[in-house]
This record gives sequence, C-alpha cells and structure tokens, in this order.
Amino acid sequence: MKNNKIFLTFDVEEFTFSVNNNFESKFKDTTKLPKKGCEKILNLLKEYQINSTFFFTANFADMEKRITKKVSDEGHEIACHGFLHQDLTKLNLGRIEKDLKKAKKMLENIAKTKVIGFRAPYLRINNNIFRILERLNFKYDSSLQYHFFHPYGKISPSIKEFPVSVFPFLRLPISWYWMRNLGLNWTNLATKILLKKKQNVILYFHTWEFVNISNFGKIPFYIKRKTGNCFLDQLEKFIHNFESSMFKTLRDYEKNEKYWI
Ligand SMILES: [Zn+2]
Repeated sequence: MKNNKIFLTFDVEEFTFSVNNNFESKFKDTTKLPKKGCEKILNLLKEYQINSTFFFTANFADMEKRITKKVSDEGHEIACHGFLHQDLTKLNLGRIEKDLKKAKKMLENIAKTKVIGFRAPYLRINNNIFRILERLNFKYDSSLQYHFFHPYGKISPSIKEFPVSVFPFLRLPISWYWMRNLGLNWTNLATKILLKKKQNVILYFHTWEFVNISNFGKIPFYIKRKTGNCFLDQLEKFIHNFESSMFKTLRDYEKNEKYWI
C-alpha cells in the first residue's frame, strides 16, 4: 500500500542577487542571509518535531560549518546542491565531475554523514550530469520540476528521481515565490489534491526567503515579496494543517519503498 508523504526541502546557498558581478570576492556577505534564515527554519522544525532535507552548496557549508553541522545534528538530511551555486549545464563535464566529487566529500566531512541526494543549482540538469551523479554514487536527484514551461525530461535509470511537485493538471509551481505570491491556499490546495491522488508532495524553498529582503534594490518584485517572518508564518500555517508524521526527509523516501510513486 502506498503511504504518501510531504517532503519540505530547503536549498542553502550563497545569496548572490546583489553581488552578481563580483561574486567571488563577496562570499563573506553572501552567507549571512541564508544562515539567518536557516536558523529560523531549524527552530520551526524543532517546534513541530519534523525533519527535512537541506541541499547545501559545499562552499556555503565550508564557510558556515557550525550551522551545517547543527542541521545534521538535529536529525535533518544533508544533501548536495553543487560546489558553488552555478548553472552546471554551462560548465564542461570534467569540471562538473571534479566539483561534485569534491562537494560531496566536503559535505560528508563537515556534517559527518553520508550524502546521497543531489539538486542542481537553478534546477538545471541534463543526462550527462545524471551520469556523473551515478559515478559519484548519489542515490537520488530532486532537480526536475515538471511544470507547464518545462518539457518532461529523460531520467537516468539508476538514479531515483524525486521531482519537485507542481499543481495537479495546471502544472504550475507551488513552491517558493509561487507560494509567497499566490498565497498559502494555492500550495495547500495543491498538496491536498496530490495527497488525495496518493502522490507524494515535494516542496522547495531557499533559506534566504525567510529573511526580509523586501527593501533590497535590483531584485525583481516577485522574488522579494513577502519574504522574512511573513513567509515563516505561512510555512508554519502550512505545517499546522497536516500531521507531523506526514513530514519526512528525502533520505527516508529513498529508503522506504512504501513511499515510491
Ligand atoms: Zn539553489
């Protein structure tokens, strides 16, 4: 019997919207916001006694070892979101393999746990990258989101795919800025329909979304709207709607055939 669940996932990456051109030299500042957001999320998850999956860039984890270790120590899953937050489809394959190998190892050393999950930065992935994931012993990927604008992609047979959920039938996204801009009811309704259809629900957020960036310049309106505690409240209300036992990590999903769809 299928035993469908909800998987909250958080991408923990450098916040680079305001440093586009001078990315490398400003790393220090790029980790502050996501770190702060991460702490708020940890408190919320602890309150509801639920565990989630956190996709870290190795660079962030290396610069913020304490919070990375804390996420792991509190029972959440540490997964890989690349070495830097770069579009991998634009790099050569040798470089991608070298970076991901290094990233996986760094995350495992910092968090003292095995890393089996991967999500590509910007959710951009292709079959060559899937083959690299296979070689590096990743067990699952969560980079695909079959939304309206996205064609169904071919998936590597030996890596399990846990796609980010979209609104049933409409195939519009239900995570991060879509949830903030369209409101809680949008994501709530989609989740309820998916669960009723006996499907798993995978939502994704960035930890920086839980810090108020609405006054930042140069960032598109829809990206910065309703960030900070406003979004934290929204997430709390969402969690409140469902039993705590509904929420699992993707690592649990990978291990438990009952959750497979
Ligand atoms: Zn990301």
